[in-house]
Amino acid sequence: MITKFVKIDSKKDLSGQLSEAAEIIKNGGLVAFPTETVYGLGASGLDPDASKKIYLAKGRPSDNPLIIHVSAPEEAEKYCYVNDMFYKLANAFMPGPITVILKKKSIVPDTVTGGLNTVAVRCPSDPVARELIKLSGVPIAAPSANTSGKPSPTCAEHVLNDMDGKIDMIIDGGSCKIGLESTIVKITDENVSLLRPGGITLEMLERVCGTISVDKAVREKLADNERPLAPGMKYKHYAPKAQVYLIFDDNSTDFQNRVAEFINAKININPLTGAMCYTELCKQLNGKYIKDLGKKNDKEEHAKRLFAYLREFDETPVTEIYAVTEDESGIGLAVRNRMIKASGYNIIEV
Ligand code: AMP
Ligand code: MG
Repeated sequence: MITKFVKIDSKKDLSGQLSEAAEIIKNGGLVAFPTETVYGLGASGLDPDASKKIYLAKGRPSDNPLIIHVSAPEEAEKYCYVNDMFYKLANAFMPGPITVILKKKSIVPDTVTGGLNTVAVRCPSDPVARELIKLSGVPIAAPSANTSGKPSPTCAEHVLNDMDGKIDMIIDGGSCKIGLESTIVKITDENVSLLRPGGITLEMLERVCGTISVDKAVREKLADNERPLAPGMKYKHYAPKAQVYLIFDDNSTDFQNRVAEFINAKININPLTGAMCYTELCKQLNGKYIKDLGKKNDKEEHAKRLFAYLREFDETPVTEIYAVTEDESGIGLAVRNRMIKASGYNIIEV
C-alpha cells in the first residue's frame, strides 16, 4: 500500500485540506492525524472491519481497546451512558487531553472496546483532529499511531517511520503540544479513578471532582495476578533497545552534583552510556549521548521532548541510559509514569 503524506498549511482552509482524509475514514481506511497529545491512528469507530485494521497495522493485542474521538463532548451520549460527573469533567476539561471511560452503548462495536462493556471517549482540542472528525461524520477510533510497544509518535516523521506502507494516509500537523497520551479516568456512578496520568493533572481533577483514586498501575509494577483498569497499562511500552536506569530527583541540595558524578563515572567506564535529564544536570555531564529534557521544573517541556528522545536513542549505539525524573506534581506524574515504563521498573538510588 502507498501511504499518502499530507502536510497541513495552517493558513489555508482546513476542510479543503482534510476532505480526502475524511473520505478515507468514511470508506473504512486508516488515517494518522495530529492531536494535542500524540498522533492518533484513526478509523471509523462504528465500523468493526476498519477498527480491526488498526490492530493489524500496529501489531496491537486485540484485548487492548481503542479510544473513540468525538468533535463535541455531548456527542459522547450517542456512544455511552453519561451522567452528571461526565458533564462536570467535560465542562472543566473538554475539548482537551482527557479520556473518559463509561458504560458503552451497543452501537459501539466490540472490536473497538476489546470486548469490554465500557468505552473510552475523548474530545481532542487540536483543530485538525476536530475538523477531521466533523468531516468524517463518524466518531474516530484511534490509539496512538506507533507500532505497539514503541513510544507514541509526537510528530509526523515518527508516524512515517512506523506506519509507511501500512496505512492510507498520514496528516502532518507539526509537533504535538503536550507530547504524552491523554489522561484516562473511569467514572463509576459518581466516583472517578485515574487510570493513566496525562496533561490534565491529578491536582486539576481533584479540584473539580474531589477525591480521586489512582490505579496502582500508574506508579507500580503489578503482580502477575493483578490487572490494571486500563488494559494498555499492562503491556511493555516505550522501552528503547538499551536498558534505561531511572533516578528519582529527591530535591536534596547535593542531588545534582552527586548524580552528575555518578553518571560521569559510568560514562568513563563505558563511553556508550547515554543520559536524559534536565538542562542544569546535562551541563555537568561529559558524554556524547546526552539528551536535554529542558530546564529543571519545566515538566511541560520534559513531557514534550521525552518520546522523541526515546526514539532517537535507538538510532545511537548506546548500551545503557541513565534518566532522571522530577517529582510527581503537575504533569510530573505522567512524565514519571512513562519513564518508569521505559525503564521496565528499573529504578536505582544514587
Ligand atoms: P492509546 O490510545 O494507544 O494510548 O491506547 C488507549 C488506552 O486507553 C489504552 O491504554 C487502553 O487500555 C485504554 N482504554 C481504552 N478503552 C478502555 C476501556 N473501555 N477501559 C479501560 N481502558 C481503556
Ligand atoms: Mg498507545
